[in-house]
Amino acid sequence: MCGIVGIRDAGGVSFSIYYALYALQHRGQESAGICTFDGTSLYKHKNHGLVSEVFDSSILSRLEGYVGIGHVRYPTTGENRPENVQPFDFVYRNHVISLAHNGNLINDRQLREEYECKGQIFCTSTDTELIAKVITDEMSNSGCIEDAIHMCMRVLQGSYSVVMMIDGTLYAFRDPLGIRPLCIGKTEHGLIIASESVAIDALGGTFIRDVSPGELVCIDEEGLRCMQIARADRRAHCIFEYIYFARADAVLDGALVYDVRTNIGKKLHEEAPVEADSACAVPDSGTAYAIGYSMGSGIPFVESLLKNRYMGRTFIMPTQKERELAVRIKLNPIRAHLKDKSVVLVDDSIVRGTTSRRIIDIMREAGAREIHVRVGSPPIKAPCYLGVDMPTREELIASDREEEEVRKSITATSLHHISLDALMEAIGMDRSSLCTGCLTGCYPSPIDGENSDLPHIDFLDGTYQTKLEKFDE
Ligand code: 5GP
Ligand code: MG
Repeated sequence: MCGIVGIRDAGGVSFSIYYALYALQHRGQESAGICTFDGTSLYKHKNHGLVSEVFDSSILSRLEGYVGIGHVRYPTTGENRPENVQPFDFVYRNHVISLAHNGNLINDRQLREEYECKGQIFCTSTDTELIAKVITDEMSNSGCIEDAIHMCMRVLQGSYSVVMMIDGTLYAFRDPLGIRPLCIGKTEHGLIIASESVAIDALGGTFIRDVSPGELVCIDEEGLRCMQIARADRRAHCIFEYIYFARADAVLDGALVYDVRTNIGKKLHEEAPVEADSACAVPDSGTAYAIGYSMGSGIPFVESLLKNRYMGRTFIMPTQKERELAVRIKLNPIRAHLKDKSVVLVDDSIVRGTTSRRIIDIMREAGAREIHVRVGSPPIKAPCYLGVDMPTREELIASDREEEEVRKSITATSLHHISLDALMEAIGMDRSSLCTGCLTGCYPSPIDGENSDLPHIDFLDGTYQTKLEKFDE
């Protein structure tokens, strides 16, 4: 998982990219980077750490130019090494190129070997560099960037939303299934591409639309051009973006995440009603769900766990021991709201089960009598190969346990996970639009040893529908 942004704006881009990355910080806290281009030179700055730690105004002032891209990283492939920090940049035949990628390729090993057989070298262990290699390899044949991206999209398998800057032109493309989000917006004097609409909001911009699955968009001095390169007979938007990953105020492929989550909360009440004194969220990811549960049931929404807002997401902690300790520092129970009370505790997902068990312990110690856990996702059964850092089956508490066993393990009074049908209803999409791999073990891409439901993808050979989209000032 990562966040990406690309902006073209004659008035300069580095500060806007910074604010956009700040709005996408939840998509990756490990590292951040920005590359800009002023017509002659590339400027870059990237490092480990949060956006606000990596940049300051003097650094941003040095990043000159009217076009640029940015990235926040949450490692899925490639270890935590300085050369793996994106954007990735290089010069090829006098073209100044940089790119940033959100997603995970599944054929990166084969491709890497193929290119190494041709004598190519790799400087990083990321699949982003591989995308760059595939594109320059194709550019060496045709010389045409659009053709090269077209060929690249034929070759890549897995999930990819990419922003790429070639000289002064900004390109963005999205895999044919639209697994990771990507959208287009307009700022006062420019255009922006970003993982989530919240980045556009942060700049006071206007959301235009999502990049379509299989689409290439190009932003240059003419404005915005787009071409449909691939058309699939299904989509596979990541269901976990709605459940956990995206910000609640983001609109992803037509659905406002906040509404999806409150709808799930209402449906959790319909599927598993219970009498209780209050509905409480595991903050922050469970909040919209708990509000939905409260709206549906009439049980008052009461905050009973307060979160230290200066602390990051617990998954960032590398070891299980650190993750367990982190829960204590992160959440503090409000004893007066819990003593002798029966509480519905609502969270977005149970992954390893560590958080839930700890939180239930904390709430019991604070005097809670009954703790009825309601979960906004169905049981997570299988790993993710397409960009979410979802652990192996051994680590997933529900991969081989029935709900009752999970309930015992986390010591809840009762436990209910939303059904997959209700979840899809809340999103307003069905199986032919969503990737449900982590919930069903059936993936939209061919993955060794796993079941798949493969799409049919047409590549629209040589028939680019290039249309210039002009936006009124
Ligand atoms: P677990 O059951 O593994 O202890 O943790 C579940 C909690 O982790 C939930 O509250 C959920 O919001 C959060 N969570 C789920 N998936 C992810 C993820 O990919 N990254 C991070 N940082 N947290 C996650
Ligand atoms: Mg959470």
